[in-house]
Amino acid sequence: MERAAALDDPRPVLSALIEAGYRVIAPVEQDGAIRYLPAVDPDSLPKGRIDSQTPGSYRLEDGDPERWFDYVVSPESWKAWLYPARRKMWTSTRSEDGLSFERPEAEWTPTAFFGVRPCDLAAIEKQDAILKDGAFADPDYAHRRENALIVVIQCARSAETCFCASMNTGPRAQAGFDIALTELGAEADHRFLVEAGSEAGARVLEGLTEDATEADKDAAHAATNAAAASQIRVMPENVAAGLKARLTAPEWDDVAKRCLNCANCTMACPTCFCSDVQDTSDLTGDLTDRWRVWDSCFNPDFSYIHGGAVRTSSMSRYRQWMTHKLSSWHDQFGASGCVGCGRCIAWCPVGIDIVAEAETLMAQPED
Ligand code: SF4
Ligand code: SF4
Repeated sequence: MERAAALDDPRPVLSALIEAGYRVIAPVEQDGAIRYLPAVDPDSLPKGRIDSQTPGSYRLEDGDPERWFDYVVSPESWKAWLYPARRKMWTSTRSEDGLSFERPEAEWTPTAFFGVRPCDLAAIEKQDAILKDGAFADPDYAHRRENALIVVIQCARSAETCFCASMNTGPRAQAGFDIALTELGAEADHRFLVEAGSEAGARVLEGLTEDATEADKDAAHAATNAAAASQIRVMPENVAAGLKARLTAPEWDDVAKRCLNCANCTMACPTCFCSDVQDTSDLTGDLTDRWRVWDSCFNPDFSYIHGGAVRTSSMSRYRQWMTHKLSSWHDQFGASGCVGCGRCIAWCPVGIDIVAEAETLMAQPED
């Protein structure tokens, strides 16, 4: 749907969402990072803050005090809300009548995600294909997703770790959002271009905005084009086929010597969706809970199949992760599993950089 308008300040959108009855999850500064948390006060947006993200490092600093959204992706992605790290699947109770099973009640109320970046919207769409629309959909994910309204903040700035432009996932989202805001530059008085992407989004914006001018739209495109042009990391174009052709390259051993197998990259990644199930029972054995918990292909037990793990070396686990993200995800789901958010680069404690590793591997001879 085509509707563009302009606003001087983003807070009325947040207030309108609250007034419309949505629980709003929005960027909040906490513990030295931007986090996505329930926002009851529109003044809690971290205006004037900027993030410095480099391999193995994330720092918040003071930026332009007039700007609202110059930080980019948070350490946590929206999967923490749509697909929580730990979620009870069911409880079983044993009694004289036998076993009974009970699923927990859905606790999810209509929720607005305010501040979704274009790369994270692309990540949500990748998870939708698996957890909502796939052959083994997760009913809890589907319920949360169907009751989530998405407010995108288009990126007018990139961090050093961002490479969404080369993954075609940003810095400007074209569709898939309910509302999108673009913060314009000083020459446009720090106004916001506001676009409704759905009927639900248009309802929230009713009466809130003045019509956008052509100059506002041009300024919005200029802002996101500048963010794209500033990205210093570029994923090699033919990486999907290229990695498959280099599965025995010595570089895999080199990166494996640096990798701690800590699994941080998979926890921070907005598209990783692997999980385990764990049962806990009380001392009588009458009451058992089954939990779904995030798992990682870096965990040695992840590939356990009757009698042992099939990926026993650090090299095989790193290669599995990277080739799945960038190569075999195409075979499974028809697209890359990476959206170029850069979290795995910033949150790797030894600063392993997926783009640099891809470039190095692509420079090796084929097997
Ligand atoms: S692999 Fe890294 S850059 Fe790609 S989506 Fe996951 S965390 Fe982001
Ligand atoms: S690549 Fe980095 S974050 Fe990922 S498991 Fe290895 S050391 Fe941990």
